[in-house]
Amino acid sequence: MTGISLAEAFVAHNYHPLDVVVESGDGAWVTDVTGRRYLDCLAAYSAVNFGHGHPGLIAAAKAQLDRITLTSRAFHNDRLGPFAEALATLAGKDMVLPMNTGAEAVESAIKVARAWGYRVKDVPAGKATIIVADGNFHGRTTTIISFSNDEQARADFGPFTPGFVSVPYGDAAALEAAIDENTVAVLLEPIQGEAGIVVPPADYLPAVRALTSKHNVLFIADEIQSGLGRTGSTFACDLLGVVPDLYLLGKALGGGIVPVSAVVGNSDILGVLRPGEHGSTFGGNPLASAVGLAVVELLATGEMQERARMLGERLQASLRLLLGHGVVAVRGAGLWAGVDIDPALATGRRVCELLAERGVLAKDTHGSTIRLAPPIVVEPEDLDWAVGQLEAVLLELGAG
Ligand SMILES: *Cc1c(COP(=O)(O)O)cnc(C)c1O
Repeated sequence: MTGISLAEAFVAHNYHPLDVVVESGDGAWVTDVTGRRYLDCLAAYSAVNFGHGHPGLIAAAKAQLDRITLTSRAFHNDRLGPFAEALATLAGKDMVLPMNTGAEAVESAIKVARAWGYRVKDVPAGKATIIVADGNFHGRTTTIISFSNDEQARADFGPFTPGFVSVPYGDAAALEAAIDENTVAVLLEPIQGEAGIVVPPADYLPAVRALTSKHNVLFIADEIQSGLGRTGSTFACDLLGVVPDLYLLGKALGGGIVPVSAVVGNSDILGVLRPGEHGSTFGGNPLASAVGLAVVELLATGEMQERARMLGERLQASLRLLLGHGVVAVRGAGLWAGVDIDPALATGRRVCELLAERGVLAKDTHGSTIRLAPPIVVEPEDLDWAVGQLEAVLLELGAG
Protein backbone atom coordinates (compact mmCIF):
# COMPACT_ATOMS: atom_id res chain seq x y z
CA MET A 1 0.00 0.00 0.00
CA THR A 2 1.23 3.50 -0.68
CA GLY A 3 1.62 6.04 2.08
CA ILE A 4 -1.54 7.74 0.87
CA SER A 5 -3.91 4.78 1.04
CA LEU A 6 -2.53 3.62 4.39
CA ALA A 7 -2.92 7.10 5.83
CA GLU A 8 -6.42 7.41 4.43
CA ALA A 9 -7.36 4.09 5.98
CA PHE A 10 -5.84 4.56 9.41
CA VAL A 11 -5.49 8.29 10.12
CA ALA A 12 -8.49 10.33 11.27
CA HIS A 13 -9.57 12.65 8.46
CA ASN A 14 -8.97 15.91 10.30
CA TYR A 15 -6.76 17.23 7.46
CA HIS A 16 -7.09 17.21 3.67
CA PRO A 17 -3.47 16.82 2.51
CA LEU A 18 -2.23 17.18 -1.05
CA ASP A 19 -1.35 13.90 -2.81
CA VAL A 20 2.36 14.02 -1.96
CA VAL A 21 4.07 11.50 0.33
CA VAL A 22 7.24 13.08 1.66
CA GLU A 23 10.11 10.81 2.59
CA SER A 24 13.04 13.14 3.24
CA GLY A 25 14.03 16.78 3.29
CA ASP A 26 17.12 18.94 2.99
CA GLY A 27 17.07 22.71 3.41
CA ALA A 28 14.14 24.14 1.45
CA TRP A 29 13.60 20.93 -0.55
CA VAL A 30 11.74 17.71 0.21
CA THR A 31 11.74 14.42 -1.70
CA ASP A 32 8.74 12.11 -2.04
CA VAL A 33 8.63 8.30 -1.99
CA THR A 34 9.06 8.16 -5.78
CA GLY A 35 12.20 10.30 -5.65
CA ARG A 36 10.51 13.47 -6.91
CA ARG A 37 11.76 16.76 -5.40
CA TYR A 38 9.60 19.68 -4.34
CA LEU A 39 10.45 23.15 -3.09
CA ASP A 40 8.73 23.43 0.29
CA CYS A 41 6.94 26.78 0.23
CA LEU A 42 4.97 26.13 3.41
CA ALA A 43 7.78 25.13 5.80
CA ALA A 44 5.25 23.38 8.07
CA TYR A 45 3.46 26.69 8.72
CA SER A 46 6.80 28.27 9.77
CA ALA A 47 7.86 25.39 12.04
CA VAL A 48 10.68 24.73 9.56
CA ASN A 49 11.85 28.34 9.26
CA PHE A 50 15.51 27.26 9.26
CA GLY A 51 15.06 24.47 6.72
CA HIS A 52 14.80 20.70 6.88
CA GLY A 53 17.71 19.08 8.67
CA HIS A 54 19.49 22.29 9.65
CA PRO A 55 22.98 20.95 10.53
CA GLY A 56 23.44 22.97 13.72
CA LEU A 57 19.99 22.14 15.05
CA ILE A 58 20.28 18.45 14.18
CA ALA A 59 23.68 18.34 15.90
CA ALA A 60 22.22 19.91 19.06
CA ALA A 61 19.38 17.37 19.06
CA LYS A 62 21.69 14.40 18.44
CA ALA A 63 24.05 15.43 21.21
CA GLN A 64 21.15 15.75 23.63
CA LEU A 65 19.66 12.38 22.59
CA ASP A 66 22.79 10.73 23.95
CA ARG A 67 22.61 12.57 27.28
CA ILE A 68 19.00 12.64 28.49
CA THR A 69 15.71 13.47 26.82
CA LEU A 70 13.03 13.69 29.51
CA THR A 71 13.07 14.31 33.23
CA SER A 72 9.67 15.93 33.89
CA ARG A 73 9.61 19.20 35.79
CA ALA A 74 9.56 17.28 39.08
CA PHE A 75 13.36 17.71 38.88
CA HIS A 76 15.60 20.32 37.35
CA ASN A 77 17.44 19.54 34.13
CA ASP A 78 20.63 21.25 33.02
CA ARG A 79 19.26 22.45 29.65
CA LEU A 80 16.11 24.32 30.67
CA GLY A 81 17.82 27.17 32.53
CA PRO A 82 20.19 28.11 29.69
CA PHE A 83 17.34 27.86 27.17
CA ALA A 84 15.04 30.06 29.25
CA GLU A 85 17.76 32.65 29.85
CA ALA A 86 18.65 32.81 26.15
CA LEU A 87 15.01 33.03 25.04
CA ALA A 88 14.14 35.71 27.60
CA THR A 89 17.18 37.70 26.46
CA LEU A 90 16.24 37.35 22.80
CA ALA A 91 12.78 38.70 23.63
CA GLY A 92 14.00 41.44 25.99
CA LYS A 93 12.02 39.92 28.87
CA ASP A 94 13.02 38.20 32.10
CA MET A 95 10.89 35.03 32.36
CA VAL A 96 9.80 32.06 30.26
CA LEU A 97 6.99 29.54 30.72
CA PRO A 98 7.95 26.48 28.64
CA MET A 99 5.28 24.40 26.92
CA ASN A 100 5.15 22.15 23.85
CA THR A 101 2.57 23.11 21.25
CA GLY A 102 1.33 26.51 20.20
CA ALA A 103 -2.15 25.87 21.54
CA GLU A 104 -0.66 25.10 24.95
CA ALA A 105 1.20 28.40 24.93
CA VAL A 106 -2.07 30.20 24.13
CA GLU A 107 -3.94 28.30 26.86
CA SER A 108 -1.14 29.08 29.31
CA ALA A 109 -1.27 32.78 28.49
CA ILE A 110 -5.05 32.81 28.98
CA LYS A 111 -4.60 31.29 32.44
CA VAL A 112 -1.76 33.68 33.31
CA ALA A 113 -3.77 36.70 32.14
CA ARG A 114 -6.80 35.66 34.16
CA ALA A 115 -4.72 35.00 37.29
CA TRP A 116 -2.97 38.36 36.81
CA GLY A 117 -6.39 39.98 36.47
CA TYR A 118 -7.64 38.57 39.78
CA ARG A 119 -4.41 38.82 41.77
CA VAL A 120 -2.90 42.05 40.47
CA LYS A 121 -5.64 44.05 38.75
CA ASP A 122 -8.33 43.07 41.30
CA VAL A 123 -10.95 41.98 38.80
CA PRO A 124 -13.94 40.39 40.66
CA ALA A 125 -13.75 36.58 40.79
CA GLY A 126 -14.93 34.86 37.60
CA LYS A 127 -15.41 38.11 35.67
CA ALA A 128 -12.18 38.40 33.67
CA THR A 129 -12.57 38.92 29.93
CA ILE A 130 -10.04 38.75 27.12
CA ILE A 131 -10.47 40.66 23.88
CA VAL A 132 -9.58 38.85 20.65
CA ALA A 133 -9.92 39.73 16.97
CA ASP A 134 -12.30 38.49 14.30
CA GLY A 135 -10.55 36.14 11.91
CA ASN A 136 -8.13 34.94 14.59
CA PHE A 137 -6.38 31.60 14.63
CA HIS A 138 -4.81 30.60 17.94
CA GLY A 139 -5.11 26.79 17.84
CA ARG A 140 -7.59 23.97 18.20
CA THR A 141 -8.40 23.33 21.86
CA THR A 142 -11.97 23.70 23.08
CA THR A 143 -11.26 27.01 24.81
CA ILE A 144 -9.38 28.45 21.85
CA ILE A 145 -12.07 27.54 19.31
CA SER A 146 -14.57 29.17 21.67
CA PHE A 147 -13.36 32.57 20.43
CA SER A 148 -12.80 31.62 16.80
CA ASN A 149 -15.30 32.76 14.19
CA ASP A 150 -14.35 30.04 11.73
CA GLU A 151 -17.55 27.96 11.73
CA GLN A 152 -15.69 24.90 10.43
CA ALA A 153 -13.41 25.00 13.46
CA ARG A 154 -16.39 25.20 15.88
CA ALA A 155 -19.33 23.25 14.48
CA ASP A 156 -20.40 20.42 16.82
CA PHE A 157 -17.56 21.11 19.28
CA GLY A 158 -19.50 23.20 21.82
CA PRO A 159 -20.34 24.08 24.54
CA PHE A 160 -17.80 26.85 24.48
CA THR A 161 -15.69 28.61 27.10
CA PRO A 162 -17.03 32.06 28.07
CA GLY A 163 -14.94 35.13 28.85
CA PHE A 164 -13.93 36.32 25.37
CA VAL A 165 -15.04 39.30 23.30
CA SER A 166 -14.18 39.49 19.60
CA VAL A 167 -13.73 42.80 17.76
CA PRO A 168 -12.85 43.59 14.12
CA TYR A 169 -9.13 43.11 13.39
CA GLY A 170 -7.25 46.29 12.56
CA ASP A 171 -9.81 48.61 14.19
CA ALA A 172 -8.30 50.28 17.28
CA ALA A 173 -11.48 52.27 18.03
CA ALA A 174 -13.54 49.08 18.20
CA LEU A 175 -10.92 47.61 20.48
CA GLU A 176 -11.00 50.55 22.87
CA ALA A 177 -14.80 50.51 22.94
CA ALA A 178 -14.69 46.86 24.03
CA ILE A 179 -12.34 47.45 26.98
CA ASP A 180 -14.00 47.66 30.39
CA GLU A 181 -12.85 47.29 34.01
CA ASN A 182 -12.91 43.48 33.76
CA THR A 183 -10.73 43.28 30.65
CA VAL A 184 -7.49 41.53 31.55
CA ALA A 185 -5.88 41.08 28.15
CA VAL A 186 -5.96 41.69 24.42
CA LEU A 187 -4.81 38.61 22.49
CA LEU A 188 -3.82 39.19 18.86
CA GLU A 189 -1.72 37.90 16.01
CA PRO A 190 0.41 40.87 14.83
CA ILE A 191 -0.22 39.53 11.33
CA GLN A 192 -3.11 37.09 10.96
CA GLY A 193 -1.68 33.92 9.42
CA GLU A 194 -4.52 31.46 8.85
CA ALA A 195 -6.85 34.32 7.89
CA GLY A 196 -4.66 34.79 4.79
CA ILE A 197 -1.54 36.68 5.95
CA VAL A 198 -3.60 39.74 6.87
CA VAL A 199 -1.40 42.72 7.72
CA PRO A 200 -3.20 45.34 9.84
CA PRO A 201 -2.87 49.10 9.19
CA ALA A 202 0.56 50.36 10.29
CA ASP A 203 -0.87 52.39 13.17
CA TYR A 204 -2.89 49.48 14.60
CA LEU A 205 -0.35 47.62 16.74
CA PRO A 206 1.11 50.85 18.19
CA ALA A 207 -2.47 51.90 19.03
CA VAL A 208 -3.16 48.52 20.67
CA ARG A 209 0.00 48.97 22.74
CA ALA A 210 -1.01 52.47 23.80
CA LEU A 211 -4.60 51.49 24.64
CA THR A 212 -3.66 48.40 26.63
CA SER A 213 -1.08 50.37 28.62
CA LYS A 214 -3.58 53.17 29.26
CA HIS A 215 -6.28 50.81 30.53
CA ASN A 216 -4.00 48.43 32.51
CA VAL A 217 -4.70 45.52 30.17
CA LEU A 218 -2.10 42.96 29.07
CA PHE A 219 -1.13 42.89 25.40
CA ILE A 220 -0.49 39.28 24.36
CA ALA A 221 1.07 38.88 20.92
CA ASP A 222 0.61 35.45 19.37
CA GLU A 223 3.85 35.22 17.38
CA ILE A 224 3.66 31.45 17.03
CA GLN A 225 3.63 31.69 13.23
CA SER A 226 4.90 35.26 12.68
CA GLY A 227 7.82 35.16 15.11
CA LEU A 228 11.39 33.88 15.01
CA GLY A 229 12.55 35.31 11.72
CA ARG A 230 9.64 34.76 9.36
CA THR A 231 8.81 38.43 8.78
CA GLY A 232 12.40 39.65 8.48
CA SER A 233 12.74 40.46 12.17
CA THR A 234 12.80 38.42 15.36
CA PHE A 235 9.16 39.27 16.04
CA ALA A 236 6.56 40.76 13.72
CA CYS A 237 5.89 43.32 16.49
CA ASP A 238 9.48 44.59 15.98
CA LEU A 239 8.54 45.81 12.50
CA LEU A 240 6.47 48.52 14.19
CA GLY A 241 8.61 49.02 17.27
CA VAL A 242 5.89 47.52 19.46
CA VAL A 243 6.69 45.52 22.61
CA PRO A 244 3.81 43.39 23.93
CA ASP A 245 3.59 42.19 27.54
CA LEU A 246 3.63 38.53 26.56
CA TYR A 247 5.00 36.86 23.45
CA LEU A 248 3.56 33.47 22.51
CA LEU A 249 6.09 31.41 20.60
CA GLY A 250 5.98 27.93 19.10
CA LYS A 251 6.43 26.39 15.68
CA ALA A 252 10.00 27.47 14.68
CA LEU A 253 11.10 27.38 18.33
CA GLY A 254 11.33 23.59 17.92
CA GLY A 255 13.66 23.89 14.92
CA GLY A 256 11.43 21.57 12.91
CA ILE A 257 12.57 18.75 15.20
CA VAL A 258 10.40 18.62 18.32
CA PRO A 259 7.42 20.67 19.50
CA VAL A 260 8.62 23.56 21.68
CA SER A 261 6.49 26.51 22.72
CA ALA A 262 6.72 29.21 25.33
CA VAL A 263 5.09 32.22 26.90
CA VAL A 264 7.73 34.92 27.33
CA GLY A 265 7.21 37.97 29.52
CA ASN A 266 8.32 39.74 32.65
CA SER A 267 8.14 38.33 36.15
CA ASP A 268 5.54 40.90 37.26
CA ILE A 269 3.13 38.94 35.03
CA LEU A 270 4.47 35.38 34.69
CA GLY A 271 5.39 35.50 38.35
CA VAL A 272 1.70 35.24 39.30
CA LEU A 273 1.91 31.47 38.74
CA ARG A 274 2.58 29.55 41.94
CA PRO A 275 4.00 26.01 42.18
CA GLY A 276 1.42 23.35 41.34
CA GLU A 277 -1.01 25.66 39.54
CA HIS A 278 -0.02 24.93 35.96
CA GLY A 279 2.25 22.53 34.13
CA SER A 280 2.99 20.10 31.37
CA THR A 281 4.81 16.74 31.54
CA PHE A 282 6.92 17.44 28.47
CA GLY A 283 7.21 21.24 28.77
CA GLY A 284 10.83 22.33 29.14
CA ASN A 285 12.23 18.82 28.67
CA PRO A 286 15.99 18.53 28.06
CA LEU A 287 15.70 17.59 24.38
CA ALA A 288 13.25 20.43 23.65
CA SER A 289 15.40 22.85 25.65
CA ALA A 290 18.59 21.83 23.82
CA VAL A 291 16.91 22.35 20.46
CA GLY A 292 15.22 25.57 21.60
CA LEU A 293 18.55 26.94 22.84
CA ALA A 294 20.16 26.14 19.47
CA VAL A 295 17.28 27.95 17.71
CA VAL A 296 17.71 31.02 19.91
CA GLU A 297 21.49 31.00 19.28
CA LEU A 298 20.80 30.81 15.56
CA LEU A 299 18.57 33.88 15.81
CA ALA A 300 20.86 35.80 18.14
CA THR A 301 23.20 36.80 15.29
CA GLY A 302 20.34 38.38 13.30
CA GLU A 303 21.50 36.70 10.07
CA MET A 304 18.34 34.65 9.61
CA GLN A 305 16.14 37.69 10.15
CA GLU A 306 18.18 39.70 7.63
CA ARG A 307 18.04 36.91 5.07
CA ALA A 308 14.24 36.68 5.50
CA ARG A 309 13.98 40.44 5.07
CA MET A 310 16.04 40.50 1.86
CA LEU A 311 14.50 37.40 0.31
CA GLY A 312 11.11 38.66 1.42
CA GLU A 313 11.52 41.87 -0.56
CA ARG A 314 12.42 39.77 -3.58
CA LEU A 315 9.41 37.47 -3.09
CA GLN A 316 6.88 40.26 -2.51
CA ALA A 317 8.18 42.23 -5.52
CA SER A 318 7.99 39.26 -7.88
CA LEU A 319 4.51 38.34 -6.63
CA ARG A 320 3.30 41.89 -7.20
CA LEU A 321 4.23 41.52 -10.88
CA LEU A 322 1.45 38.90 -11.08
CA LEU A 323 -1.21 41.42 -9.98
CA GLY A 324 -3.78 41.67 -12.75
CA HIS A 325 -2.50 38.39 -14.23
CA GLY A 326 -4.62 35.98 -12.22
CA VAL A 327 -3.66 37.52 -8.86
CA VAL A 328 -5.97 40.09 -7.27
CA ALA A 329 -4.02 40.89 -4.10
CA VAL A 330 -0.66 40.23 -2.47
CA ARG A 331 -0.07 40.75 1.24
CA GLY A 332 2.72 39.91 3.57
CA ALA A 333 5.85 40.75 5.46
CA GLY A 334 9.28 39.25 4.98
CA LEU A 335 9.26 35.75 3.61
CA TRP A 336 5.56 35.29 4.27
CA ALA A 337 3.02 36.07 1.57
CA GLY A 338 -0.72 35.70 1.12
CA VAL A 339 -1.73 35.66 -2.53
CA ASP A 340 -5.38 36.06 -3.52
CA ILE A 341 -6.01 34.26 -6.78
CA ASP A 342 -8.84 35.57 -9.00
CA PRO A 343 -11.72 33.35 -7.76
CA ALA A 344 -13.01 33.10 -11.34
CA LEU A 345 -9.84 31.18 -12.22
CA ALA A 346 -9.58 28.61 -9.45
CA THR A 347 -9.76 27.85 -5.75
CA GLY A 348 -6.60 28.10 -3.68
CA ARG A 349 -6.73 24.34 -3.33
CA ARG A 350 -6.69 23.84 -7.10
CA VAL A 351 -3.76 26.23 -7.50
CA CYS A 352 -1.84 24.30 -4.83
CA GLU A 353 -2.55 20.99 -6.61
CA LEU A 354 -1.22 22.41 -9.86
CA LEU A 355 1.81 23.88 -8.07
CA ALA A 356 2.55 20.46 -6.56
CA GLU A 357 2.47 18.92 -10.06
CA ARG A 358 5.17 21.44 -10.93
CA GLY A 359 7.27 20.71 -7.86
CA VAL A 360 6.19 23.50 -5.50
CA LEU A 361 4.44 22.75 -2.19
CA ALA A 362 2.17 25.52 -0.95
CA LYS A 363 -1.07 25.66 1.02
CA ASP A 364 -4.36 27.43 0.54
CA THR A 365 -5.85 29.27 3.50
CA HIS A 366 -9.46 30.17 2.70
CA GLY A 367 -11.23 30.33 -0.65
CA SER A 368 -8.85 31.46 -3.36
CA THR A 369 -5.98 32.55 -1.11
CA ILE A 370 -2.68 30.69 -1.05
CA ARG A 371 0.20 31.28 1.31
CA LEU A 372 3.89 31.13 0.56
CA ALA A 373 6.31 30.72 3.47
CA PRO A 374 9.45 28.92 2.30
CA PRO A 375 12.26 28.12 4.73
CA ILE A 376 14.50 31.14 5.23
CA VAL A 377 17.46 29.12 3.94
CA VAL A 378 15.83 28.97 0.47
CA GLU A 379 18.16 30.00 -2.36
CA PRO A 380 17.13 33.21 -4.17
CA GLU A 381 17.02 31.47 -7.57
CA ASP A 382 14.79 28.71 -6.16
CA LEU A 383 12.45 31.38 -4.85
CA ASP A 384 12.32 33.00 -8.30
CA TRP A 385 11.69 29.59 -9.84
CA ALA A 386 8.75 28.96 -7.48
CA VAL A 387 7.13 32.27 -8.42
CA GLY A 388 7.71 31.32 -12.06
CA GLN A 389 5.80 28.09 -11.44
CA LEU A 390 2.92 30.07 -9.94
CA GLU A 391 2.89 32.28 -13.02
CA ALA A 392 2.82 29.18 -15.23
CA VAL A 393 -0.08 27.70 -13.24
CA LEU A 394 -2.06 30.93 -13.61
CA LEU A 395 -1.44 30.95 -17.39
CA GLU A 396 -2.52 27.31 -17.54
CA LEU A 397 -5.75 28.32 -15.78
CA GLY A 398 -6.36 30.99 -18.39
CA ALA A 399 -5.05 34.15 -16.74
CA GLY A 400 -4.24 37.05 -19.04
C1 LIG B 1 -0.16 27.29 14.53
C2 LIG B 1 -0.63 28.38 15.38
C3 LIG B 1 -1.09 28.14 16.69
C4 LIG B 1 -1.27 26.75 17.26
O1 LIG B 1 -0.07 26.02 17.29
P1 LIG B 1 -0.13 24.42 17.43
O2 LIG B 1 1.31 24.05 17.67
O3 LIG B 1 -0.67 23.89 16.14
O4 LIG B 1 -1.01 24.12 18.58
C5 LIG B 1 -1.46 29.23 17.47
N1 LIG B 1 -1.38 30.48 16.98
C6 LIG B 1 -0.95 30.75 15.74
C7 LIG B 1 -0.88 32.16 15.27
C8 LIG B 1 -0.58 29.71 14.89
O5 LIG B 1 -0.19 29.97 13.63
